[in-house]
This record gives sequence, structure tokens and C-alpha cells, in this order.
Amino acid sequence: MCTPQEFEDAVAGAKEAAATWRHVPVSARQRVMLKLQQLINENKDELAKSISLEQGKTISDAHGDVFRGLEIVEQACAAGWLSEGHCVHNVARGVDTMAIREPLGVTAGICPFNFPAMVPLWMFPLAAATGNSMVLKPSEKDPGATMMLAEMATEAGLPPGVLQVVHGAHDVVNAICDHPTIKAVSFVGGDAAGKHIYSRACANGKRAQVNMGAKNHAVVLPDADPEATAKALAGAAFGAAGQRCMAIGVIVTVTGGDMGVRDRLVDKLAQLGDSLKVGPASDDATDVGPLISPEAKQRALAIVEKSVGSEGAKLALDRRTVALEPPFDKGNFFGPTIITDVTPDMTCYREEIFAPAVSVVAVNTLDDAISLLNANPYGNGCGIFTSSGSAARHFVANVDVGQVGVNVPIPVPVPYFSFTGSRGSFHGDLNFYGKNGVAFYTQYKTVTSNWKFSASDGMSGLHGVGASQS
Ligand code: NAD
Repeated sequence: MCTPQEFEDAVAGAKEAAATWRHVPVSARQRVMLKLQQLINENKDELAKSISLEQGKTISDAHGDVFRGLEIVEQACAAGWLSEGHCVHNVARGVDTMAIREPLGVTAGICPFNFPAMVPLWMFPLAAATGNSMVLKPSEKDPGATMMLAEMATEAGLPPGVLQVVHGAHDVVNAICDHPTIKAVSFVGGDAAGKHIYSRACANGKRAQVNMGAKNHAVVLPDADPEATAKALAGAAFGAAGQRCMAIGVIVTVTGGDMGVRDRLVDKLAQLGDSLKVGPASDDATDVGPLISPEAKQRALAIVEKSVGSEGAKLALDRRTVALEPPFDKGNFFGPTIITDVTPDMTCYREEIFAPAVSVVAVNTLDDAISLLNANPYGNGCGIFTSSGSAARHFVANVDVGQVGVNVPIPVPVPYFSFTGSRGSFHGDLNFYGKNGVAFYTQYKTVTSNWKFSASDGMSGLHGVGASQS
């Protein structure tokens, strides 16, 4: 936990570093990113092991965490192209105007617990590649990966101060939002913190990009490939113990009035969910690790209990209180759980559970499904499973969600695009990474120059030589 003085020192260090770093040639910044990419690759096993130990996700999920972050470092390696501005020659006689992309100065990043490598890597490499410094606050629950990445950044040649890691929780976040030196805040986390940070940072004149919670729906049409769809949904709903902002939290089965369509899908999903091994990440056979904390487990249990107990939902698979052998019997384990007969008023539909518990809602038509999705306050991700191209196209054209998958359960795009969560899942104008990410960390300066040419221009030196000889 950093003290107010340590925070001030960190911001002062970032300010000093930003003043120099912005003038470092873009090719040199690019070389730092290339070296960072190499170091992360060389140390990815160590990083993944550390994440798994600290956060509890399986080694393969931890590798995914590192890999998805590494992709943004690779984007940052193209710092030259990312820094391109534009120019119009001869806007008037002898006059040219160019727009130069410039860094903002000191930026800040605030991270959640669930992707301790990926989310910091969404932030500081692109900020640094475009000439900024960054004050970065990892989640207080798992700061280890950020510390390893910061060491690698230093080894890669990032000058002291360009990345300043600060530790803490609410007080440090508020100090970031209030500090006049910090020009922009990148945040990824839950709704309460996100809304607070967006309004506080904006009130203080900062740019903000704020990714928040989600309730991602997967719509399944009757013509979807049953095996592939159930497998994809099991991975997206139960993988990473459901602690993904892009986890599938709701499956919408389009039945056309035949509930057998829903039942067959739920049966397959239940078989898959039942076959997953719940346990500690230290066991190579584990598919579903623990939740982050006892509070997270209690919260998930309470949501499911309320939905089933007093609100009328049913359970098609109930592994909420999966029993493990000591010493893991007291762990935060919560196994794959499928809640059916869910309606939009129920708690399990309204809340982000952030555990491997998925709600199943049955509707009659594809348009009913689209209306359901569009009425949900969140807009992070969604998917449709079908073998009909025209049905998929109709869905894509009419659904109001930032990231859409067609037979793809977790449609996070590669970083030549941006992470385009929308509506209640995102506050701000410029999304993370891709072209929007570059725009977020830079601002344009336009320069208009007047250089009218006459025949004697450039010849004054010659004239001077001639004069001395005569
Ligand atoms: P969180 O909101 O509890 O914490 C995120 C960060 O905000 C932490 O650094 C924390 O210290 C700080 N914080 C928390 N409450 C605060 C407050 N009241 N005031 C000031 N700062 C505060 O989130 P989490 O539990 O770490 O992460 C899980 C959440 O993040 C989920 O809702 C998930 O959907 C979301 N998430 C979203 C995305 C996305 O891209 N949309 C990605 C990952 C996680």
C-alpha cells in the first residue's frame, strides 16, 4: 500500500520521465517494445506459474492471460505506424498543414484481479510506445504479475519513471483521479468502481476509458451444431471459473415453442459441466480453479440461492458446493452450475455472478432473443450459434452489443481491432487497444507552415562567398 508521499513521488517521477521519453525517437521506443515482447516470451512459463499460484487460475488459463497481453505488446512494437499523423500539402500557396500525433504526458492505469497480466499489458505498452509515462495500479488482490512485467520492461530498456507501479485500493484510485498531472485514466474492473472513476476522472478534466462488468448472452438457434455448440458454451461459461468479463453468463435458446430444443442443449451442457474437474490450480488435472476470495464465493452462492429459492429458477446442474479433500475443503471452490427457467427479473439474470454459473432463458424466436439482449443494460459481448448465415447476419445487424461472435463464444478481437465493449460495459469514447487505444493515449497538434518560394531562396550562402572574393 503506497503512502500519499510515495504516490506523489511516483507521479513526480512519471512527470519527469514523460518530459524526456516523449522526445526519444520512435524507432528507439519500438526497440524497447520488441525487447519486452522477447522477454515476456522467454519468461511466459514463470509468469503463468506465478499468476496461477497467486490468483488460482489453471496454468493453461494463466498462459492465455499472458498470451492475450503479449498480443498488445506486439501491437506496441509497431510504434512508428501507430504514431503516424497526416499532412495536407499546399492548403494555400506555400502553406502546408500537418497533424502530429503527440503523447499526453502522464497517464494512469487501474486494473482488476481477473487478468493480472493481460490487463496491465492492455495499458502500459501502448501508452509507452506512443511516448507517455504511466502510473499503474494493479489489483491489490494479485499484483505479482505487474511487478514481474515492470521488471521486464526495465530490462527491456524502458527508462526509470516511464512505468511507475503504485499499490493500494480506493485511496490510491481516488488520488489518481484527482491528481492534476495525470492526463488520462484507463480502468478495467467492476461497475461500482468504474462509474465512480469515470465521473471523478472526467470531473477533473481527464480522459477516461472505463471497461466494466458484463452479462454476455449466447443465442442458440435450433439448427446449431449440437456438439460443437455445447462444447463452446461449456468453455465460455465454466472456463477460468467464470471469472472473465467475456464469460457467457446467459444462454438464450430459441425454441420455436419446442422446449425439447432447450432440454437437449442443457443435457449436453450438464454432461460437460459435470465432467470438469474442480480443484486447485496446482493439480494439472484441474479444469476449474477456485474463486478469488471467500466473499466472491458467498456472493455467487447467495445469488443462485435467491434465484432458485424464492424466484422460481431450477437447477439442471448443481455443483455449487462441490466437496474437495482436505486441505482444499475450505477453499473458494464453486463448480459448474446451470440454472434453467430463468426470466429477466431474476437475480441470477440481473447480476454478474462472476463464477461458473450460467443462466438459461428460453424464447420463441430470434427477434425475441435480440430484444432480450438489447434490453439488458450491459453491452460487452454476445454470440449466436447457428448454421444459417442469414440468421447470423440478421442478428449481427440488430444486436446492440460491442463484441459479437458468430459460432465464436468469446469474440474478443485480435488487437488490430479494439476491445469494443459498449453501453453499460463501457464508459468513454475510445476503447482499449487497436486504433482507438492509440487515439486514447495521443492527441493531435496541427502545424501550419508558410514557406513561399522565390528564385533567390537558398542562395544567400553563395552570394556571401562571391562577395568576399571580389
Ligand atoms: P473491482 O472493480 O473490484 O476492482 C478493480 C480495481 O478498482 C481495483 O484495482 C480496485 O482496487 C479498484 N476499486 C475497487 N472498488 C473501488 C472503489 N469503490 N473506489 C475506487 N477504486 C476501487 O473489480 P475486480 O473484482 O477486481 O474485477 C472483476 C470485475 O472486472 C468484473 O465486474 C469484470 O466483469 C470486470 N472486468 C471487465 C473487463 C472488461 O474489459 N470489460 C475485463 C476484466 C474484468
